[in-house]
Amino acid sequence: MARVYNFSAGPSILPESVLRRAADEMLDYQGSGQSVMEMSHRSKTYDAIIKECEALLREVMNIPDNYKVLFLQGGASSQFAMIPLNLMNKNGKADFLITGQWANKAYQEASRYGEAHVVASSKDKTYCYIPAWKAEDFTPDADYVHICMNNTIYGTRFTELPQTGDIPLVADISSCILSEPLDVSKFGLLYAGAQKNMGPAGLTVVIVREDLIGNAQEITPTMFNYQIHADNGSMYNTPPCYSIYICKLVLEWIKNEIGGLANMQDINEKKAALLYDFLDASKLFKGTVEKKDRSLMNIPFVTGNEELDAKFVKEAAAAGFVNLKGHRSVGGMRASIYNAMPIEGVEKLVEFMKAFEEANA
Ligand SMILES: *Cc1c(COP(=O)(O)O)cnc(C)c1O
Repeated sequence: MARVYNFSAGPSILPESVLRRAADEMLDYQGSGQSVMEMSHRSKTYDAIIKECEALLREVMNIPDNYKVLFLQGGASSQFAMIPLNLMNKNGKADFLITGQWANKAYQEASRYGEAHVVASSKDKTYCYIPAWKAEDFTPDADYVHICMNNTIYGTRFTELPQTGDIPLVADISSCILSEPLDVSKFGLLYAGAQKNMGPAGLTVVIVREDLIGNAQEITPTMFNYQIHADNGSMYNTPPCYSIYICKLVLEWIKNEIGGLANMQDINEKKAALLYDFLDASKLFKGTVEKKDRSLMNIPFVTGNEELDAKFVKEAAAAGFVNLKGHRSVGGMRASIYNAMPIEGVEKLVEFMKAFEEANA
């Protein structure tokens, strides 16, 4: 069996031990005689899986008791509507930092349900940096401030959080969840599509402070109301059962094999440094992002020559380094090195880049 090094931005690489365990349990989950895909979500066996997944997420992320954890569907993209429908409920206003396409989509969707304000944007330079903000830039009576913590397409991340005072901070953490410790208590709401760093597509995790739910706008569809899902333990309707099960296995991997998020961060910092150090020294390749804002998870780079970029992507794929083509809006290459990418995957990619540089000097 030949496994490739998969640098996809999402859906993306999963830990091999998780896939093996899922394969082992595929036909007969722990003596139930069924696959997790086949069993009733109301069964005792499945109830234990979803409860364990939530307990592990709470433990690994150190989520305070006054936060609800919701396992939803519809992707991070549904949250772009669900958040304003549930949170833009006092003054009908929210503030946005526009650091890329996802942040912009969150802003545009929110504008349909209330007054959405742009506080700062880095669109002028294709989002290659995190724009500066001042505390007084925020709308004093905004219902929340929204940021996208890690910008999957452009490869930037917030290393410092906006000081929003009493205004709840809402963050899209789709592509950085579980990559390093995060102080959940600094946020009103966190959300993530699972398919970048926690499991297969189909699951969206929302972590929300209890006092922010229960006051959804009148027009909110039942399925878009956080209160409904919170009251029903994410079982108002059929949850994405199998994705939640894989997410549980990923959390077990982080807890037992990695040893928690502080260790995960160490590993992720080492991996990112390997690639960034090479890019900084290379005469052919260069990173596209301002150094202070560099992501640990998504690393875009270019040669400056589109034909050479295409040649690199093609030769890399043939050598077993796949999904390195950059997003269409940035061009060039992007290596997504999520939690599950082993350090040797990055070491070997750097070796391959060195060889390519020599061959194409
Ligand atoms: C992938 C991604 C999204 C979109 O997620 P879907 O689950 O496809 O809706 C939103 N935000 C960020 C930061 C992402 O990386």
